[in-house]
Amino acid sequence: MSVHQLSIGAIECAVLQEGVVKMTAEDVIARYPNAEPAAIAAAIAAQPPSGSLNLLYLQSAGSHILADVGFGEAPGPPDMGGVLRGLTSLGISATDIDIIHLTHFHGDHISGLVDADGATAYPNARYVTTQAEWDEWMSRWKASDTPRDRHRLQLISGIAERVSFVEPGDEIAPGVKVVNLEGHTLGHSGLLIESDGERLFYVVDILHQAFQLARPDWHFGLDSDGPLAVETRRNTLQRCVDESLLTLFYHLEFPGLGQVIREGDAYAWQPID
Ligand SMILES: [Zn+2]
Repeated sequence: MSVHQLSIGAIECAVLQEGVVKMTAEDVIARYPNAEPAAIAAAIAAQPPSGSLNLLYLQSAGSHILADVGFGEAPGPPDMGGVLRGLTSLGISATDIDIIHLTHFHGDHISGLVDADGATAYPNARYVTTQAEWDEWMSRWKASDTPRDRHRLQLISGIAERVSFVEPGDEIAPGVKVVNLEGHTLGHSGLLIESDGERLFYVVDILHQAFQLARPDWHFGLDSDGPLAVETRRNTLQRCVDESLLTLFYHLEFPGLGQVIREGDAYAWQPID
């Protein structure tokens, strides 16, 4: 369990490491369908792949906000659940969480909505997500009869009454704005946190490995719309550079915080010290 605390103006933030998913080189290569396997192998040899899950906790104007919930106590990869332990270390309990922003509905982001017994893990939270995200997965899951998709349909249906839809630009709390990052999934969204002239840009899953900064045109196998994901990846990375934004990625090596810099006709990653 690792926790990295920072403040953005008056907004208290913490990056909570849910856990690290172990991946072999073959696992990583298999996820980039339009890339040369040898080129990925070389990228991995230069820098080992990251399987970190970095969740963002925020406290703004008295609201306790969590972006996604990781795996929690739900069945998943080994050694998960760091978010709940991280919150505890900050003196926050799951019952304190008021708002949960669901960036998208992949399993590594939503499985922890319920505890080990299948009960709501965050009983006092309301949820925000985008209509596009809801529509994509409701229709995909309803058309599927795999146990995994049935489970996810049940998981999200279980919170339906506490979900409200947000649009890009909406503020979910003072200084916490929703940003459209469509492509990875059709309603994938991030957050721009701004207070007292300081900013943090949470770009979630616009990419999954640091080598994608150098090769933003490589498709990630789980992107719902590969070409749209490439366009969003490029535009978002360029915005990080143009505005010199402190940036947070969900899957880069913990804490996943740093600066995107321009390198040739692509980008590079400078993690914080
Ligand atoms: Zn993810």
